[in-house]
Amino acid sequence: MSTARYDLHTHSTESDGTEPAADVVHAAALAGLDGLALTDHDTTAGWAAAADAARETGLLLVPGMEMSCMAADGTSVHLLSYLHDPADPSLLAELGASRDARLTRAQSMTDRLAEDFPITWDLVREHASENATIGRPHIADALVTIGAVPDRSAAFSSILRGGSKYYVPHYAVDPVEAVRLVRAAGGVPVFAHPRARLRGRIVGDDVLEAMIEAGLAGLEADHRDNPEQERTWLRETATRHGLFVTGSSDYHGAGKPNLIGEFTTGPEVLAEIEHQGTGAAVVRG
Ligand code: AMP
Ligand code: FE
Ligand code: FE
Ligand code: ZN
Repeated sequence: MSTARYDLHTHSTESDGTEPAADVVHAAALAGLDGLALTDHDTTAGWAAAADAARETGLLLVPGMEMSCMAADGTSVHLLSYLHDPADPSLLAELGASRDARLTRAQSMTDRLAEDFPITWDLVREHASENATIGRPHIADALVTIGAVPDRSAAFSSILRGGSKYYVPHYAVDPVEAVRLVRAAGGVPVFAHPRARLRGRIVGDDVLEAMIEAGLAGLEADHRDNPEQERTWLRETATRHGLFVTGSSDYHGAGKPNLIGEFTTGPEVLAEIEHQGTGAAVVRG
């Protein structure tokens, strides 16, 4: 049992992954994992299907989510939440605000793109499943369809990158407030890919310390977007502040090169998450 491996960061078609939640669970089983967390952006809509698939395959499922946040200086932060109450009204209000803002923002980006590319809002919508949390990956897929770029990664390194003239930011809750909201909903907040410099600007240590002060539980140290030399710093920081560290893939199906199970978390940390999380239960298949 002590060698069990869990991938605690994956996405389905409820956000910007390319596989339905049940398929993500099956992919985890095929990869030989003992369990996974489903962590779609700003939604828990995939939990029920993932739970059914976990029961079918005998895998362990940690119901989770990746919450969009924006620090005061405009820097984007992603906060993973495990085992929060999916019906918590305060949390739901913020998720609704982010999801609405994402929709308006994706329409604005599409309007800007339509001046230079044969892209329409309908085409973007066709690349997202109904009620999915909309993001740049869906716009990227539409750009692939019209032949403007070969794949999502190419879209993100050119047309859709942060500094592009087509880029529009969107409202999201402050990360310190998000930590409080997740805790208040019985969830376990973990800072996702805290040193992912390739994705854009990262927040300073002042924000990290404020998040810790507000109740942050862990740091996602082992993630391909954290430069290797910084993973050590993250582990040391976690030890210094009494936080745990996780390792995860951030699997998006065919939408990203990240392979399910490429980084994993062990049973001791899983037990700690289960111990701290009081808003939802782990599903044991
Ligand atoms: P958004 O939240 O709409 O600004 O889009 C950011 C999302 O795009 C993140 O959640 C990532 O999963 C995804 N993303 C970022 N960079 C890439 C990339 N190079 N290839 C594919 N997806 C990416
Ligand atoms: Fe994503
Ligand atoms: Fe993320
Ligand atoms: Zn993610």
